[in-house]
Amino acid sequence: MQDGRSADVVVVGAGFAGLAAAHDLAAAGARVALAEARDRVGGRVLTRLLPDGTQLDLGGQWVGPTQHEMRELIARYGVRTYPTPERGRAVVDYEGALLDALPPQVMALLGELDRLSREIPADEPWTHPQARSWDGRTLASWLAGRTGDPAVARAVARQTAGALLSLDAADASLLETLFYLVGGDGMDVLVGFAGGAQSHRLVGGPQELAVRMAAALPAGTILHNCPVRRVEHGAGGAVVFAGGVRLEAAHVVIAIPPALAGRIEYDPPLPVQRDGLTQRMAAGYALKTHAVYREPFWRARGLSGISFSSHGPLTETVDNTPPGGPSAVLTSFAYGADAHRLRSCTARERRRAVLDRLAGLFGAEARDPAAFVEFDWCAEPWTRGCFSGHLAPGAWTGFGPALRAPVGVLHWAGTETATRWNGYFDGAVQSGRRAAAEILAGAEPGVEDHKGSPVRSVRP
Ligand SMILES: Cc1cc2nc3c(=O)[nH]c(=O)nc-3n(C[C@H](O)[C@H](O)[C@H](O)COP(=O)(O)OP(=O)(O)OC[C@H]3O[C@@H](n4cnc5c(N)ncnc54)[C@H](O)[C@@H]3O)c2cc1C
Repeated sequence: MQDGRSADVVVVGAGFAGLAAAHDLAAAGARVALAEARDRVGGRVLTRLLPDGTQLDLGGQWVGPTQHEMRELIARYGVRTYPTPERGRAVVDYEGALLDALPPQVMALLGELDRLSREIPADEPWTHPQARSWDGRTLASWLAGRTGDPAVARAVARQTAGALLSLDAADASLLETLFYLVGGDGMDVLVGFAGGAQSHRLVGGPQELAVRMAAALPAGTILHNCPVRRVEHGAGGAVVFAGGVRLEAAHVVIAIPPALAGRIEYDPPLPVQRDGLTQRMAAGYALKTHAVYREPFWRARGLSGISFSSHGPLTETVDNTPPGGPSAVLTSFAYGADAHRLRSCTARERRRAVLDRLAGLFGAEARDPAAFVEFDWCAEPWTRGCFSGHLAPGAWTGFGPALRAPVGVLHWAGTETATRWNGYFDGAVQSGRRAAAEILAGAEPGVEDHKGSPVRSVRP
């Protein structure tokens, strides 16, 4: 026997997308039930405090000045931010040579990608005149055609397919890469610290913002430990089976990564194009690790802790020490095949591989951290990837139009559906607000309007 409940809208997933959708719907007077699989809100954000109080953001962490949705939420919920520390020199390890900046040939190709990306209509990339050709071509093959120097190709691949999409260049289409660039305001903003996407962190972590957003929803809105496994839908509404709870609603917002949305059973089944899209949007597979030290020893050497490497297991590192510490933190990112290789090691081997690389970049002290913390989002059943999902080569032109198109009363949200800052918090919030607006604007005035909401209620 299942518990039953009715709502105007059921939202699936309490990440930033689902929380933003629920907020806008509830603010318009709709009765909302938000079904969340985990026992917490926030999805791909998770903040842990070390015993001494040092904040570690195991999932997403940064916000930037052109991420307007997040800036507005941060201000509204009164979460404080602080700049990412950038004291000292960054290290660029290009094929074993320590440089101040990437070589001109690498910068030229990054600039070319940036220029091409400005042509892409972010809301309909499949309509670009070159869409079919760029979608059918991987970034790796494009790079091979642009340079005969494998080191240059590798550096560009690691900076774009790796650091941005968390894929290998052989897995990313040129069109997907360009789409990602244009939505994030271009290369400089995407990879930048001050003024860029890595500009600030949140006191208490982005999880604190998610918790405050959840607390502002009407009491009882969020149903924790309620994974949605089946959705029955039709012209009159939908029935959502969420753990042991049966939820009836006029509309459903599915605010989870498309690869996970494809695991839900739909009755009737989804149209072929939508189902095909979910089969072609696997998540990236980055690995983020944290080495915790008593002191930020790299600063004494004039180093910022920020690094980019064109080889080796770690593509990027950053000084993740919160202001006032108390501990110092170097956070590392591995992407694509490097992340796969690290995952296939034992925990001890992985720790050794990461610390050896940090020692090569910042000094021997790196080998002796007070703690080494890792968290694998790819192994999380309610995430299954890191950082976000990407359409496989060929999929934008074949399946792209199904990314946001509602299927009857089912609406799609989640950062993967965003046109700006796709893959980021900001895109998640934008997507949730867009899905809510779709419902509030498009629904016919119902016979059982709730507090003036145009959303029609379905009563059990
Ligand atoms: C390691 C890492 C670092 C990142 N760094 C940054 C960064 O610095 N800045 C940035 O802007 N972005 C960053 N990102 C990306 C950012 O975290 C995501 O884009 C954003 O949090 C996605 O929000 P969402 O609501 O779309 O999805 P999610 O956060 O994934 O939320 C989906 C929710 O749905 C739940 N769920 C899943 N399936 C079901 C189901 N069947 N039934 C019910 N509930 C379900 C999940 O538990 C989850 O709570 C990072 C991500 C990772 C993993």
